[in-house]
Amino acid sequence: MNRTCTEVWQNCMDVIRDNISQQSFKTWFEPITPVKLDGKVLTIQVPSQFFYEWLEEHYITLLRKTIRKELGTEGRLEYKIIMDGSSGNGEQGEQFSVHMPTSNRSATRNASVSMPIDLNRDNAKEIPNPFIIPGLRKIKVNSQLNESYSFDTFIEGDCNRLARSAGYAVSQSPGKTAFNPLLIYSQVGLGKTHLAQAIGLDVKTNFPDKTVLYVTLDQFTNQFIDAVKNGSQNDFVHFYQMMDVLIVDDIQFLSGREKTQDVFFNIFNHLHQNGKQLVITSDKPPVEMQGIKPRLLSRFKWGLSADLQVPDLETRIAILEKKLYNDGITIPSEVVEYLAYSVTTNVRELEGALISIIAQSSLNKKAITLDLARQMIDKFVKSTTREISIDYIQKVICDYFSLPVELMVSKTRKREIVQARQLAMYFSKKLTKASLATIGLHCGNKDHATVLHACRTVTNLQETDKQFKLYVDELEKKIKL
Ligand code: ADP
Ligand code: MG
Repeated sequence: MNRTCTEVWQNCMDVIRDNISQQSFKTWFEPITPVKLDGKVLTIQVPSQFFYEWLEEHYITLLRKTIRKELGTEGRLEYKIIMDGSSGNGEQGEQFSVHMPTSNRSATRNASVSMPIDLNRDNAKEIPNPFIIPGLRKIKVNSQLNESYSFDTFIEGDCNRLARSAGYAVSQSPGKTAFNPLLIYSQVGLGKTHLAQAIGLDVKTNFPDKTVLYVTLDQFTNQFIDAVKNGSQNDFVHFYQMMDVLIVDDIQFLSGREKTQDVFFNIFNHLHQNGKQLVITSDKPPVEMQGIKPRLLSRFKWGLSADLQVPDLETRIAILEKKLYNDGITIPSEVVEYLAYSVTTNVRELEGALISIIAQSSLNKKAITLDLARQMIDKFVKSTTREISIDYIQKVICDYFSLPVELMVSKTRKREIVQARQLAMYFSKKLTKASLATIGLHCGNKDHATVLHACRTVTNLQETDKQFKLYVDELEKKIKL
């Protein structure tokens, strides 16, 4: 029976489809085309080196099983990888095939490169590094960049001027500025990912031959864990060492992950020594990072650490207007201003509020008015961020005992007032992030020992006095409301 490669591959695909998620199937298997069937050897074509590496890392077992099922134990798989035109001599679309015998690696054909996709991997002893390809150093990597996070859509303001211009400089001459690594840090939702991606996109535009990769630290870690499991650590390291620009997002998650730190350290050193660019982001500056080894931390400080601050009102308005312009939507400027005025701390929430309003108006077929915006913001701001403050706790307690709130900070030592003050300290400790010293300062200028004493007193009293405990429980509910 003579089957074509298409039929054989089709059968494989049917099995594979049933065994992995739809998304993975779409991403990793639909782009594959079968090219030929030569006896027991099926050749498939994959779009890039990265693609091949991914299949090898994640789907080798499944591929092995399906190929064997289709072609018997002698079955073999060969890959043909499409190279992009970055091999230096401008040859576009050069192809070369990769030869993967089942057991021992046999002769390599003329221009082809021997790769270790070994269907008998369990028995394979020595796996040569698949990422170093003599004479074909440049590979096509899926850079994982999102086109919408460009410099063009990143609004400049006082809040981000340094980080933005450093990022821009880096994208003009990656690896050649003093900003290596460039570390961008800020609280969440202020544009770290956007700016880091903008750098990557710009490098790709300016230098199409450079290999750029954006990864989150979580992706990096998971790939590393997989590599350890599969014994392909060297391949992992070499893959990363081939980047011209490596962007690692949310580096703070390195904290406490010693093995990942070590491997990242090696990659970092290699890239840095070879004049390659590193861009990293974090939710805090290096001095505040914890759980990261000093030798790595000191390297983070080699280049430039630039922060992103909360944007001011004008910048917030500009961000909203740019977004509306890009989406081709117009809404009254008073609404834009109202939004920018109301949502102050986080650009992501600002955008979220805008999207909610647009969605509301189109769902209910209502015009976008200031009123609608007010209603939305009321809901939105309440449901997302209401931080409990010491002042608020004092107010609730004073209301509860019908005491004027000024007494909280007075010197009076009347019993019920002392107790109200102690409760305020207790709840401030329990429900806010304020330090003992700050709490003391706000509750009648007491020192931290007094606050500590107050907390203990309230805790002890609850254990001995049922009525008191009822008060405390009721108060806590009111404060959290
Ligand atoms: P982070 O990584 O710091 O948590 P992101 O980069 O994900 O923040 O930004 C959150 C959202 O805010 C994104 O949609 C981003 O496009 C937008 N954003 C942040 N800063 C700006 C800015 N200066 N100009 C335009 N959009 C911004
Ligand atoms: Mg981010």
